[in-house]
Amino acid sequence: MNNRRFFSLNDYFKDKFNEKIYKVSLDGGFTCPNRDGKVATGGCLFCSESGSGDFAGNKTESINSQIEQQLNLIKDKFPTGKVIAYFQNFTNTYGEIKHLRKIFYEALAHERVIGIAIGTRPDCLPDEVLDLLSEINEKYFLWIELGLQTIDEKVIKIINRAYSTDVYIDAMKKLNLRNIKVVTHLILGLPEESKKGTFNAALLVAREKSWGIKLHSLHILKATPLARYYEKQKFKVLTKEEYIEMIVDIIEVLPKDMVIHRLTGDGKSEDVIEPLWSLNKRDVLNGIEKELKNRNTHQGKKE
Ligand code: SF4
Repeated sequence: MNNRRFFSLNDYFKDKFNEKIYKVSLDGGFTCPNRDGKVATGGCLFCSESGSGDFAGNKTESINSQIEQQLNLIKDKFPTGKVIAYFQNFTNTYGEIKHLRKIFYEALAHERVIGIAIGTRPDCLPDEVLDLLSEINEKYFLWIELGLQTIDEKVIKIINRAYSTDVYIDAMKKLNLRNIKVVTHLILGLPEESKKGTFNAALLVAREKSWGIKLHSLHILKATPLARYYEKQKFKVLTKEEYIEMIVDIIEVLPKDMVIHRLTGDGKSEDVIEPLWSLNKRDVLNGIEKELKNRNTHQGKKE
């Protein structure tokens, strides 16, 4: 990590590719078994209408056109560099294997795409999908993203995650066996979640050898089941100070080589009901840096 207090995705890209890499978010036209009734209905409590991919491309367009459109949006700050094509919305391995193969390879065929990232659920990784991912992983740069969010049984029910933590552990074993990189998502500040609960979830993610982690605060977004739940329950929302303290506690126990993809979230500002402090990302990140410095600590210090 040299002088860095934590190992960010940008640091990883610089180490690996020796250049800055952007991500472009795509919509592969999927739904989710937690919405269409296969495992449950209603979806996760916090999931937005777009399947937690509010900045992604338009699913009516081909993958290639979505990449072009997303590149066009960043052309001024990033005119020529390489990108990761990120299949973000809904469950991106929940579909016909022929369709998965087609869209993943279509993305990889784009001249500026250096690799792909695929967001999915751990209960949507049957062997034929794992075989396809292995095949891609052998030739290209690939990671999979899994939304674990919590390991507290009570909270799992409240957020309607609709798979057990054992399913995540099993998926991690299968993916690690195939050397496929995994990024695990955790949300801080879920209803009824204790600080210790979140901390224990981070320990599990480290134990299961996730290659990377995404951490962010719960965003209560307008027109989501969570907004209605919040209206009724008025559960406690984390303060910025509590959030920063929890994040630094977690950074200290993560392995030094785990890539930290995110330390704060991204919600469309006009949709965020709470916590409003999360809209000032720079301020949150500065607070985290300051707390790391004050404690004179770093990632892996308490590994
Ligand atoms: S698994 Fe993902 S896409 Fe499905 S409901 Fe939950 S957050 Fe939304």
